[in-house]
Amino acid sequence: MRPLVWLTAALAVGAASPSAAQDRRPTIPPPSITEYEPVSTLVVPETMVPRAKFPVVDLHGHPPTLDDPETIAEVVDAMDDLNLRVMVQARGSSGARLTSQIEAVRAAGQEDRFVFFTTLDLRNVGPGSGARIAAQLEADVAAGAVGIGEIGKGFGLSNRKSDGSRLQLDDPELDPVWQTAARLGIPVFIHTADPPEFFEPLDYENERWLEMALFENRRFNDPARFPTFETLMEERNRLVARHPETTFILAHMGWHTHDLARLGELFDAHPNVFAEVGAVLYDLGRQPRFAHDFFVAYQDRILFGKDSFRPEEYPYFWRVFETEDEYFDYYRDYHAFWKLYGMGLPDDVLRKLYHENALRVIPNMPTDGFR
Ligand SMILES: [Zn+2]
Repeated sequence: MRPLVWLTAALAVGAASPSAAQDRRPTIPPPSITEYEPVSTLVVPETMVPRAKFPVVDLHGHPPTLDDPETIAEVVDAMDDLNLRVMVQARGSSGARLTSQIEAVRAAGQEDRFVFFTTLDLRNVGPGSGARIAAQLEADVAAGAVGIGEIGKGFGLSNRKSDGSRLQLDDPELDPVWQTAARLGIPVFIHTADPPEFFEPLDYENERWLEMALFENRRFNDPARFPTFETLMEERNRLVARHPETTFILAHMGWHTHDLARLGELFDAHPNVFAEVGAVLYDLGRQPRFAHDFFVAYQDRILFGKDSFRPEEYPYFWRVFETEDEYFDYYRDYHAFWKLYGMGLPDDVLRKLYHENALRVIPNMPTDGFR
C-alpha cells in the first residue's frame, strides 16, 4: 500500500492551490487589475517574424470594403509586407455590395489577391426563407463568391424567427441553403457562440473578467436572454452532422482552443468539418507542446485566419506558429493574462495551415505565388 499513499500525497501537493503569501496581506495598497503591468526580466532568444515563412491565405479577412482603388492598394501593400498572398473578404456582402467589390478588385488588377464570401440574410426566418436565401446564394456564387461567411455569432445566439422564437442553428427551414452550398462546392464559414467564459458568471475566477468588464456586449451569461454555450455547441454539431456533404469551417477553432481534444473529437466524427485560428492565439500560445501535437495530428483540417485587419498583429501569429520562442507578449492584454510560447510547427504543417488547406477547401482560388 505504501506507493499508493505516496502517490496520493504527491497528487495532493500538485493539486494544492497557490498559497496567498502565507496569509500575509500587502502592507501597501495593491495595484488594480489594470494598473499591474510587470515587465519581464527574462532574457531568452527572440525571433521576430515580420513575414510568414510561406505564402498565406487569410481565410478570415476583415479588410475595409474593397470598392475603391486606394483602399485596395493600401490593403495589398500591407499584405505584401506580411506575405499574405490571398485574402478572403469575410465581411460577408451579398448582391450589389458583393459585385461592386469584385468589380473594383478586377479593375485594380488585383483579382489574384482577393476572393469573396457571400452572406446570408438570417433575420426573420420563416416558411419559404430557406428557398429564398438559397436563391440569393446561387446568384452571389454566379457573381463570383466562393464561400459563405463569415456567418456571425448572431446566428444561434440572438437571431429571431418570424414567429419570435430563437433561430436554432439546425433549423430545418435552412436545409436548402446548406444543401445548395454542398451542390455548389463552396464552404460555409461559421462563427458560433463566443469564448465559453463569456457564458459564465462574471466573477474573479473568470479568465476573461477584464474583457467582459470592458465590453458589456460580450456578456452572454444571462440565461433569460441567451442560450448556453453547450446548447449552441449541440445545435452546431447537429447541423454539421445533418449535412455531411457540406463543408463547414468553424471560425475561432469552434471556441474549443482551451480544450483541443474536444475539437479533435469533432474532427474525428465529422470529416466535413474544418477550423480556423482567428483571434484564438492566446490559447494556442499558452500550450505550445499540446497545440503543436494537435496541429500535426489534424494538419489537413486547420486553416489560417486572422479576424480583425490590423497588419501589425499578424506577426504574432507567425511567431507562435514558426518559432520556439518563450514567454513573449500577446498583442491584446484583455484577452489573456499570460505570455505566449512558440509552437515550432514543421514546414509541411505550416504550408498546409498557411495555404494548402485553403486552396483545397475553397473553389476557384488563385494559385499564382504559392511556390
Ligand atoms: Zn470575423
